[in-house]
Amino acid sequence: MTTAVIVGSGPNGLAAATVLARAGVDVTVVEAANQLGGGARSVESPLAGLVQDHCAAVHPMAPASPFFQTLDLKAMGVRWAYAPIDAAHPLERGEPGLLRTSVRDTAAGLGRDGARWEAAFGPLAREFGRLSPVIMSPMLRVPRHPLLLARMGLVAGPPPALVGKFFREERARALFMGVAAHALQPLTLPLVTGIGAGIIIAGHAVGWPVVEGGTGRFTDAHIRLLHGLGVKFETGVRVNRLYELPPRDITILDVHPRAAASILAEQQPQGARRAYRSFKPGPAAFKVDFAVDGGIPWRDPEIAQAGTVHLGGTAEEIIAVEGQVAAGQMPERPFVLVGQQAAADPSRANGSIHPIYAYAHVPTGYPGDATEAIIAQIERFAPGFRERIVALSTRTPAESAAENENFIGGDILTGAKSPLQFLLGPRLNAQPYDTGIPGVYLCSAATPPGPGIHGMGGFNSAQRALRYLAQGSAPKIEVYAP
Ligand SMILES: Cc1cc2nc3c(=O)[nH]c(=O)nc-3n(C[C@H](O)[C@H](O)[C@H](O)COP(=O)(O)OP(=O)(O)OC[C@H]3O[C@@H](n4cnc5c(N)ncnc54)[C@H](O)[C@@H]3O)c2cc1C
Repeated sequence: MTTAVIVGSGPNGLAAATVLARAGVDVTVVEAANQLGGGARSVESPLAGLVQDHCAAVHPMAPASPFFQTLDLKAMGVRWAYAPIDAAHPLERGEPGLLRTSVRDTAAGLGRDGARWEAAFGPLAREFGRLSPVIMSPMLRVPRHPLLLARMGLVAGPPPALVGKFFREERARALFMGVAAHALQPLTLPLVTGIGAGIIIAGHAVGWPVVEGGTGRFTDAHIRLLHGLGVKFETGVRVNRLYELPPRDITILDVHPRAAASILAEQQPQGARRAYRSFKPGPAAFKVDFAVDGGIPWRDPEIAQAGTVHLGGTAEEIIAVEGQVAAGQMPERPFVLVGQQAAADPSRANGSIHPIYAYAHVPTGYPGDATEAIIAQIERFAPGFRERIVALSTRTPAESAAENENFIGGDILTGAKSPLQFLLGPRLNAQPYDTGIPGVYLCSAATPPGPGIHGMGGFNSAQRALRYLAQGSAPKIEVYAP
């Protein structure tokens, strides 16, 4: 029987396992942590009985992802839950920017910029069914819908700081810049708009849902599905070298390119190895999970209806602090992302206690404590927040990295999404999943289409593996020791 080993059980590893197991391959998933799921888990934190999303919380790229479309979520017992407002961006002066699933309703709340917002994102959102398979595939190839991709390039190509100038009112500029800041890069660089534009367009097509009951609910259901397909799991096993693995036909690595370089060692062609080793980490996140009595007392009560809230003030302020963070300096008022999952899924609140999820963008490996900076940023738009905190737990960049080594220095995106790394993945190759060793592939968020819960790194790399097997010449990869 054809066999495969997947190293790492993040959403991409599990997606690869699904594709291979469905094709009749005997799959084993080996995971370093004691719990499966990587960045798609839930935890009880900071209070017993309060479910928090450990990493990924909001999933704009999931519902329309070609991999997710192969899953019968209903049969798996997984439901998306939607907040009335997908994302909010409050300002100290003036109206907030509100991102709603309807592009028309979003535009209606953006004053003089409404028509511009609709013109920039509406047509792409309407075509998202055709666009999503294109943007979720490797970029170095002849695109299936070149005109559509060219149109996407008009908003995703120029630096966010330049695209922002297209809007005349602060609420539209800040709303756009807050979403663009998800790239965790200087907002003055070209192509950095790609991630933000992608999730705005996806949001207008399918919304920004959370998983009812927490992201871990999806992962648990996915693991049950894989058990049903005969997939075997080993946890608490860190793979250091390829030769530690049993004989197999296919290996798929859901790991950081730097880890892949050391796992593959001298078996990997030199050029690929050099590229993997020099794959750079990006800035980090300092995360705080709060238990908050009655939720956050926003100055503008409408903000309580948003699943995600971006805190950083004006577009200019966000451009400045993201530049500082990328340059290794900790800003006084860092950009903060707040998750109010209970706005989408009331079952997440425990009586009057709401789980509030927040993280600040901080420099890679930031050794300090950003808890006060996060609380102060929330207080700036919601005076009285501090008094409502019942409990909190923190996760430093070092703790994130220790728990999941794909998050080097606390980099939650598995590599800086600088223009080239974002576009190409770990090396300049039309097949970014190929490691240079036949039958061995990389599938982590370092590969296109990048970070997030969509499973497409796993899906695409497993397709590569199936094509390789179909050639019929796949020699068994024997246990190899140098
Ligand atoms: C705080 C935070 C918030 C986030 N918010 C969102 C969000 O709201 N929405 C969203 O879409 N995305 C979000 N993300 C990003 C998302 O979680 C990741 O992009 C996604 O989990 C990447 O999936 P993956 O399969 O590539 O790898 P991961 O999920 O990182 O999993 C990799 C797995 O491989 C294991 N592993 C690594 N090396 C080895 C080895 N040598 N041997 C064995 N096992 C190994 C790790 O232990 C880990 O379990 C967030 C991430 C963080 C940290």
